[in-house]
Amino acid sequence: MRRAAPWVHGVRDTPAPFWAMESLLREYPISSAEGLALMRLAEALLRVPDAETAIALTADQLGKAEFDAPGEGPHRMLASLSASAIAMSKRFLPGAEGESGLLKRLGAQTVVAATVRAIQLLGRQFVLGRHISEAMAEADSQRRQQTQLRFSYDMLGEGARTEADAQRYLASYLAAVERIAAGPRNRGPEASDGISIKLSALFSRYEESQRDRVFADLLPRVWQLAQAAARADMNLTIDAEESDRLELSLDVFEALAARIAQAHPQWRGFGLAVQSYQTRALEVVDEVARIARTHGLRFMVRLVKGAYWDGEIKRAQEAGLAGYPVFTHKHHTDIAYLACAQALLGHADAIYPQFATHNAGTIGAILQMAHGGSAKFEMQRLHGMGEGIYREVMGVSDVPVRVYAPVGEHRDLLAYLVRRLLENGANSSFVHQLADPQVDVDALLASPLVPAAQPGLPMPAALYGARPNSTGADLACVAQREPLMHAIAGARIEAVKEASAEQIDAAMQRLHAAYPRWNEVPLAERAATLRRAADALDARLAEFCGLLVKEAHKTLGDCVAEVREAVDFLRYYADQAEQRLAVQTLPGPTGEHNELRLHGRGLFVCISPWNFPLAIFAGQVAAALVAGNTVAAKPAEQTPFVAQRMVALLHEAGVPVDALVLLHGPGETVGAALAADRRTAGVCFTGSTAVARIINRTLAGKDGPIVPLIAETGGINAMLVDSTALPEQVVDAVVQSAFRSAGQRCSALRLLVVHEGIADAVIEMIRGAMQELVVGDPALLATDVGPVIDGEAFAGIRSHVERLRREARLIGETPVSSTFARLIAPVAFELESIADVKQEIFGPVLHVVRWKGDIDAVVAQVNALGYGLTLGIQTRIDSRALRIANAARIGNVYVNRNMIGAVVGVQPFGGEGLSGTGPKAGGPHYLYRFCAEQTLTINTAAAGGNAELLAGLSH
Ligand code: NAD
Repeated sequence: MRRAAPWVHGVRDTPAPFWAMESLLREYPISSAEGLALMRLAEALLRVPDAETAIALTADQLGKAEFDAPGEGPHRMLASLSASAIAMSKRFLPGAEGESGLLKRLGAQTVVAATVRAIQLLGRQFVLGRHISEAMAEADSQRRQQTQLRFSYDMLGEGARTEADAQRYLASYLAAVERIAAGPRNRGPEASDGISIKLSALFSRYEESQRDRVFADLLPRVWQLAQAAARADMNLTIDAEESDRLELSLDVFEALAARIAQAHPQWRGFGLAVQSYQTRALEVVDEVARIARTHGLRFMVRLVKGAYWDGEIKRAQEAGLAGYPVFTHKHHTDIAYLACAQALLGHADAIYPQFATHNAGTIGAILQMAHGGSAKFEMQRLHGMGEGIYREVMGVSDVPVRVYAPVGEHRDLLAYLVRRLLENGANSSFVHQLADPQVDVDALLASPLVPAAQPGLPMPAALYGARPNSTGADLACVAQREPLMHAIAGARIEAVKEASAEQIDAAMQRLHAAYPRWNEVPLAERAATLRRAADALDARLAEFCGLLVKEAHKTLGDCVAEVREAVDFLRYYADQAEQRLAVQTLPGPTGEHNELRLHGRGLFVCISPWNFPLAIFAGQVAAALVAGNTVAAKPAEQTPFVAQRMVALLHEAGVPVDALVLLHGPGETVGAALAADRRTAGVCFTGSTAVARIINRTLAGKDGPIVPLIAETGGINAMLVDSTALPEQVVDAVVQSAFRSAGQRCSALRLLVVHEGIADAVIEMIRGAMQELVVGDPALLATDVGPVIDGEAFAGIRSHVERLRREARLIGETPVSSTFARLIAPVAFELESIADVKQEIFGPVLHVVRWKGDIDAVVAQVNALGYGLTLGIQTRIDSRALRIANAARIGNVYVNRNMIGAVVGVQPFGGEGLSGTGPKAGGPHYLYRFCAEQTLTINTAAAGGNAELLAGLSH
């Protein structure tokens, strides 16, 4: 604090140039509409190939904010420059009043060109050079001013999605190492410039599930780079990435250390980055020191706070993990940073620490810590940031400072820049507060060693408040994976006996007779039964995953997600029943009591498909039961055993055996008989549109009461991609949505409609990404795509693919080496038009169509397919996304993400048109359809007058 205060004053007395990150954040804080709009524009505008879309994007983002509002402060130059340019832009852009036609169009194009230029200029402040030579020349020029500077070059780009990407990054890293090596020599890695590399750029499948390939394919590439760096005696740092790669990265690191110890034992330049926001950070530091000592090496370790915080939190919540892998309080990260710094300085024999921070308090604390000790170390900052603070620091200390310097085209820079803006733009960030003169120096430099003022985020389990989130498993973590693998190995599927006509009749009789008793069980008790079942299922995650792998041939990740969904259904419907089905008192005239009561309709028939044999099965049954119905449950022919186990679990949890009976058998006989039975008071069906129609006709053909049919059926699901979308994000979403679960999800992507301006690039990347998928035995962690359900499905999909080979243009097909039965290689075809897609192919088959012109016309064509289940939209134009969603006659719309894996209560699921009747499963309107309603009106004045009114009067 004492040390750092003068630095802060120094920085504030000499403000950063108007283009620095600090100034930018001050002018347009991320928390403001303007800041967000600028950031979004900067991220996307440069990659948009066509003028039309660029104009739409600019208008969309600039239209959201008030750039022309008067401002004050030392950065008027930027403010007035941008304000007038942007105010002018807004006048010219579509939607503005005034001139129209050609003049307006020309005006808009000029404005967009100016905005592009402005963003390029902005980008230039954060990238050292477009290529390594330019960057090195710039580094030399900066060094002439500040001799303590060293550089670590970072070649910008998204992670590799394809082998071609990876080879391109490898070549670019190698060229950079060679170019740096050609510079001044013999100063050793600490005093000379180095390079930072990302392993995710060098291999498209750098993830725990592909561990063998990581060692077989990625390791030799990193080794090639390490050798080149060792020969040049320079620093090569492996950057830190997401926490689910942490252990894998340490294993790769150690394998490289072993090779270095053999081939280059003198080299002191190999290193990695450690993130202090990881709760495991301190252990990582000790582990790295251990690896160094084991192999007789010394490493360079960059200590950072961490750049993926928001993503880590989201992933832990989505996956229902037991805790977060990162600290949820900013100041806990700061404390961890200091603890790690101390540990690193303590490992001086094995580690040369590189402290990367822009926080004056942290820098002061580190200099204090190191004071008087003999440990050598350096500080690091990002190019374009923290220059003010380090100017002050270097004025009073001769500590070496290294600049982390992005190198690349502006296009690639912007995603990086946005990440940095997000990281530093938070109100709690030091850089943000430094720029704000309202924050006083004492507060800015306050010690992080204070207890948290308020609790951080709720744990992933508490995400939904009172309703516990289902427990997930982190498959990247051996300890959590092991019980699942064990359960899968031990799972045995037993034959389930088919119900005969007599058994069906007897069961229906029992269920019919049991209805009044079950319906009278208090709501709270029925709900409690579901919650008990949920807890039991949650605890038996591994066992049910085993059954799902063996009976439904689902991959590991899919199994975990499915058991979780079933647990969520049970808990959600229990809550919904209590909230929505309780007796409601209604307003009315005095002297009368009115109430609305809901109760079960009677005997409900639930018919489910094989693709979610646990979740859909349990969801239907739970909803029907909690509403007060008894249930005849018919699972799909292919998957009766999982269903039988689930029914047993429900019985154990307290559902009376007479209230729920499993009736297994072919749809054409058992299913048909159940639908036709005169005692059936309603049918809940999920499956194909064709069967839904048969059931509908059966019900319509019966005499007696007209009963409800809840039908959830298939879809021809499209994803619309415009030219503002980021191709890497699109490809991730496409591959997951079209091919995961072997395309056997009703929500799966069937039809990708991509703007012609980016279609070639996107299609090429999809082709490349398809090559990297692993098709095989679903019981193996490495498998991305398992087999299809049965021989009939296999033959059907195959014949469709053969037809498409004749009628359409093949884009790509995943190579398959496994001999596991019924594998269908993911395959993609390009078609001429949307109308060429005639039906749902329930497998890993993707159709691609290009679009141009009017997106509204594209939406109309998708609507014209008649289905309405899921829709993906990829665009950075927010108003466009909303317009598409409004025009789409589709049940579940997903923007800028994949379009599968709806979560109970979060994305209630179900479609319209040919895709189903609704109401949505896992949504607030579902239970009503299982109920009959009754009002009860009591004339309270009947016996002798209105006591209530009279009592009020006498007051
Ligand atoms: P399917 O229609 O062949 O079978 C579904 C169920 O209906 C099975 O239990 C089957 O035995 C039964 N059945 C078949 N004929 C019957 C008849 N005449 N009378 C009564 N019951 C009969 O569907 P599937 O192949 O099991 O599942 C795949 C289909 O389900 C796809 O079209 C998919 O899109 C759809 N699906 C929709 C959703 C959704 O929520 N919208 C969810 C999953 C699957």
